[in-house]
Amino acid sequence: MTDSSDCVFCKIVGGQIGCLKLLEDEQSLAFLDIGPQAEGHVLLIPKRHFERLDEMSGELVGRVCGHLPRLSAAVTRVARAEGCNILQNNGRVAGQAVAHVHFHIIPRRSGDGLGYRWLAGEYPRGRAEEIRGQLEQALKDLA
Ligand code: AMP
Ligand code: ZN
Repeated sequence: MTDSSDCVFCKIVGGQIGCLKLLEDEQSLAFLDIGPQAEGHVLLIPKRHFERLDEMSGELVGRVCGHLPRLSAAVTRVARAEGCNILQNNGRVAGQAVAHVHFHIIPRRSGDGLGYRWLAGEYPRGRAEEIRGQLEQALKDLA
């Protein structure tokens, strides 16, 4: 967990930095991204400072993410888009620039040039089962 005193999204929650707010409840805030990937790009955040998703309780993630169906429908409608991506980056290596959990809602249209290099790999024989075993163990350890 990083320090929240220098966090731009905490400052937005606290009102020290302005934003174009879309919705707010006790736990959540949604506003327009200041550097949109496409017009209508929205960010949804928990009001409390957490750097990564796995620092949040499942219950709180559920409360915040409960806004995603309606938000994504509104973003897609207003941007006259054909679809949208919901993205959530954890860690610098994954493209996280702001160390406060946030969900991107990005409208998508064919030919918009956005995208993620989705190069499907292949497991060598037996490796997928091995990975599944490790994941099952990790899930038990984390329960
Ligand atoms: P990420 O790379 O996943 O950490 O995304 C951070 C996002 O926060 C980027 O899309 C930025 O454009 C956006 N952002 C940074 N500062 C602000 C701000 N003050 N208001 C709105 N969006 C912001
Ligand atoms: Zn913060």
